[in-house]
Amino acid sequence: MNATADLTLVSDLKAILRDVPDFPKPGITFKDITPMLADPRLFGRVIHAMCAPFRGQRITKVVGVEARGFLLGAPMALALDAGFVPARKPGKLPHRSIVERYSLEYGADGVEMHEDAILQGERILVVDDVLATGGTAEATARLVSRLGGELVGFSFLITLDFLEGPRRLGMEKVKTLLSF
Ligand code: AMP
Repeated sequence: MNATADLTLVSDLKAILRDVPDFPKPGITFKDITPMLADPRLFGRVIHAMCAPFRGQRITKVVGVEARGFLLGAPMALALDAGFVPARKPGKLPHRSIVERYSLEYGADGVEMHEDAILQGERILVVDDVLATGGTAEATARLVSRLGGELVGFSFLITLDFLEGPRRLGMEKVKTLLSF
């Protein structure tokens, strides 16, 4: 499942990512990626490593999940020579959209995509910062399939293994740089 054998990258990331206890709710340890984003060399290595398993896989669209999936997904789309599609919280997209509901580690929510964001048969990569229960990514995958896209895989910076997200999404489809 791990996307990279670059142990230096793994240790550099572990040193810089920040655990914020009890955010946004008691009992949740929030994985804060902003120190990584603020380091241009490390950010570049992350994007490169997250793209690596999907090079040569003819990805035509990268779907980034609001909000931190945008920060990783947009540079990955450019690096893979693919288009970028935002999957947003309900009510944010201006054009006709489709919605899927899901429950997540802290609360319940939904995800929306423009109905013309993906064309029939397009090869899709879904990107987010953290895989927790997998509810968000699974709902995003349902949007992709409703629009006729072919889901090639999921790419995460961090996977919280104890929540069994990879099992829910299908182990072979999930790539991650870090597992906790
Ligand atoms: P889930 O649907 O449970 O896999 O939750 C994934 C979504 O919630 C992603 O968009 C993450 O950005 C966010 N998320 C869940 N748990 C955490 C966490 N511990 N730290 C940071 N973000 C999280």
